[in-house]
Amino acid sequence: MSYMRLCCGAAACLFFSLSLCAQKVSVGLFFDVPVKAATFTVQSGSYAIIVDDTLLIAALDRGASMQLLHSNGGLRVRIAGDNMGTFASVKAVGMGDEGIFSIIGANPQLSSRSYAQHAFIRSANDGSGLLIVNQLNEDFYLSGVVEAETGCSAKPEFFKTQAILSRTYLYAHFNRHAKDGFNLCDGVHCQAYKGLLTRCRRIRTAVDETEGTIVIDSEKRPITPSFHANCGGQTSHSENVWREKLPYLRSVKDDYCKQQQGARWQKRIALTEWRGYMSQNGIRVKNSKQLELAQPSRKKYYEVGGKKVELTKIRQRFGLRSTFFDVRVVGGDVALTGRGYGHGVGMCQEGAIQMAEQGAKCEDILRHYYKNTSIISFNQAHSTPAMRQDSMLYLFNPWRNETPDTTTFIDDQVMQNK
Ligand SMILES: [Zn+2]
Ligand SMILES: [Zn+2]
Repeated sequence: MSYMRLCCGAAACLFFSLSLCAQKVSVGLFFDVPVKAATFTVQSGSYAIIVDDTLLIAALDRGASMQLLHSNGGLRVRIAGDNMGTFASVKAVGMGDEGIFSIIGANPQLSSRSYAQHAFIRSANDGSGLLIVNQLNEDFYLSGVVEAETGCSAKPEFFKTQAILSRTYLYAHFNRHAKDGFNLCDGVHCQAYKGLLTRCRRIRTAVDETEGTIVIDSEKRPITPSFHANCGGQTSHSENVWREKLPYLRSVKDDYCKQQQGARWQKRIALTEWRGYMSQNGIRVKNSKQLELAQPSRKKYYEVGGKKVELTKIRQRFGLRSTFFDVRVVGGDVALTGRGYGHGVGMCQEGAIQMAEQGAKCEDILRHYYKNTSIISFNQAHSTPAMRQDSMLYLFNPWRNETPDTTTFIDDQVMQNK
């Protein structure tokens, strides 16, 4: 990373060659919400404001704000009450590759979030509002993602596991939003990202300690790093939940999570409602007792008299915490006794937290939940010539070039993808 700081700290490269500052990720903020107006405020450091590739303000300092209003496909910019004009794009570049800013959505009203490093704003491709992109170092981004997905109280090896999974997702989906002008969005469509890491230093440490590390399958592709809250004692095969059968998303037994919060649940549903739903799905019984189900280990279907309904469908219909449940008929109800919370595929977070508590390393945790995989490191300092020559690994290393072009400003990216 030292060469990055060298480069990015040099004022000469700041405006013209930001792309030399390696290992940047561009994240589309508020991607689901068409934001018409927003306020950008400098929280620390100093920002250069560049409009349509012309320097407007050399140093917007701490506390200063800039109002951005979507208007006729452009951006109307106001700073300190002054109307600065209407432009196609605005870039707020943190001096020295540093700085923290906040964005508050004014229309619609959105709560303020803080972000590290740079912001690029223009009209969204569909003209619905502002496209706000946060461009920042990979490690800042991953810290934010891990924090959005976990608390702060677990052991370091658990955070290292989550950091590796989030990085695996990032590398596998690096160009997912190329046509929109950035790498990943901040919603659950990609990975939830709510901005700057604020509470948990140990997450940042975990991200640093796993730098460049991802999980690959037997064909050297980054895995789909699915995880869920609690598996209830057994994870699911991927094909029991989604269509695709993946060789590493296999059902595994898991004793680690069984005493945890999400391990058990109960729910009662009126027998008439249950019966009615099953009847619509072809399961018609004379005796209600026939509707009972035992699931000592995870099944794919709720099956009665040769007719069956996918458990995922039942889970969705009745808003159940998992598909891993038994059914008993009790009076006028069906009583569901369930295990686990979530889809059950891949890593069980509560199990992984317990493994880390008991001294497991992140590699042990990953191998327990993801079968037939390898853990590799793209850490530039340590990646071997063999890895660089391996075409598959090469393909999935977003930092494969000496000077990665992943920092291409949004305008350029959109041009390339037209
Ligand atoms: Zn997305
Ligand atoms: Zn589990």
